[in-house]
Formats: sequence, structure tokens, C-alpha cells
Amino acid sequence: MRRTALIFCIVMLEFAYCVGQQRPVAEAKQDPGRMTPGMTEIWDPEVKVIQPANVPGQPPSDAIILFDGSGISKEWEDVRGDPSKWIVEDGALISVRGAGRIQTKKVFNDFQLHVEWKTPAEVTGESQGRGNSGIFLQGLYELQVLDSYNNRTYRNGQAGSVYKQHAPLVNASRGPGKWQRYDIIYTAPRFGEDSTSYFTPPRVTVLHNGVLIQNNVSIRGPTLYIGIPEYSIEKHGAGPVQLQDHGNPVAFRNIWIREL
Ligand code: MG
Repeated sequence: MRRTALIFCIVMLEFAYCVGQQRPVAEAKQDPGRMTPGMTEIWDPEVKVIQPANVPGQPPSDAIILFDGSGISKEWEDVRGDPSKWIVEDGALISVRGAGRIQTKKVFNDFQLHVEWKTPAEVTGESQGRGNSGIFLQGLYELQVLDSYNNRTYRNGQAGSVYKQHAPLVNASRGPGKWQRYDIIYTAPRFGEDSTSYFTPPRVTVLHNGVLIQNNVSIRGPTLYIGIPEYSIEKHGAGPVQLQDHGNPVAFRNIWIREL
């Protein structure tokens, strides 16, 4: 009887130890017969609390606001580091032919990015010449912006394509002159020791107007207009978000980003 009581005490002490100290799962796995629910519960550190927006598409409390209609000089610059020549009109940031790309002054690695954009209501041009712009992730990898509403072009160059690499899963375009939105989840590449190739390539998931169009696709290399993108690349770190000037006055608004 005394021996049974002793064993009971030992078991209870061990149980208390496992629950109280959160014994590592690997250790507990060696003894699956003694697993308890508490052994696989991780309490600390507590997950950071943020405030989501009341309206979908608006920034949550931990977002960095890149453009909210009130000016661009604080967050954006010309890619040469000069003040941007793009214009702000009716709360929208509009590309100007010949002004070149603009980029964020801040640089990013992994992120969630929200961008709203609108191609001109008055349709001119066709194929790649109609409402063309783009969002360059880390300044290297273009997510195409284009008026792809009743506008055929090559499938891996239409709106929502990772330009010349991945066609979108579907064409979720709204018509010209209508606001559209991208929600982009980007994972930056990791590099090997030799610094000339990806250890893991960049990956991107994109929702276009709330519809999944890129599902965690692997990016083969920096965007090229001519040629085949290579996994072989000079090592790079954090990079800016760039917006392309392709000669068409494309408007942007409500741009925010969350670092992951
Ligand atoms: Mg483009």
C-alpha cells in the first residue's frame, strides 16, 4: 500500500512538472503514453495584439502607411533619390509619362502589401499599351498593373501576372476607370553562402479584388523584358516598393504595408 502511494506521488509530481514547466514536446514524445494536453500548449510569448480595420481594405493598426492621399514626399522618392515628379490629384497618386519609377524611402523584406489602383477611364492603346504600370517588389520583381478588361495580351503579361513568369490564375479585372485592389503577401529570397544564387527564391501570393490569382508562386529571378529570368543573382537584402511609369497615367491610392 505504501509502495502504491509512493508511485502515485511520483506520477503526480511529474504531471505537475510537465504542465507547469511546459516540458519540450520532443522530450515528451519519447514517452507518448504520458502525453497530456498541456504538453503541447505554448503560452509565451503572448501573440502581439493589433487592431484590425473596421472596413476591409483599410490598414490595421500595425501597418506602415505609404500613401493615404495627403502627399508623397515623406514616403516616396524618384529611384535616383530625387523628389518624385508624380502628381497627387483627388487623393490619388498618378504616374507621369517620362517621370520614371518612384520608390518607397523605406526598404522591406517579407511583407503584406495593400495597393489600390485605377487605369484611365478613357481607353487608349491596346495590349501592353493600355493602362500599364507595375509594382516592383523589393525593386526587382514586377507584379503587373494593366487594363486587362477586354484587352488581350500575352497571358504572363496581363494584370496580376508576375511579369513574364506567372500568369494570374484568373482574370479578375474591373473595367477601366474603376478602382481595383491588390493584396500581396511576399516572402523575400534567402541566399546561399556563395551569394550568387537563391537558397530559397522569393515567393508571392496575390489577391486581385479579393480573388486569389497567385498562390505562393516561386519567382525565378528579377523581372526581364527580354530574356529568361535566372535563379542566379547577386545577393540582395531589403528593397523598396517601386511603382512603374510605363507612359500611361495610372492612379494609386490607399497603399499600406505590414512587415512580417
Ligand atoms: Mg508594367
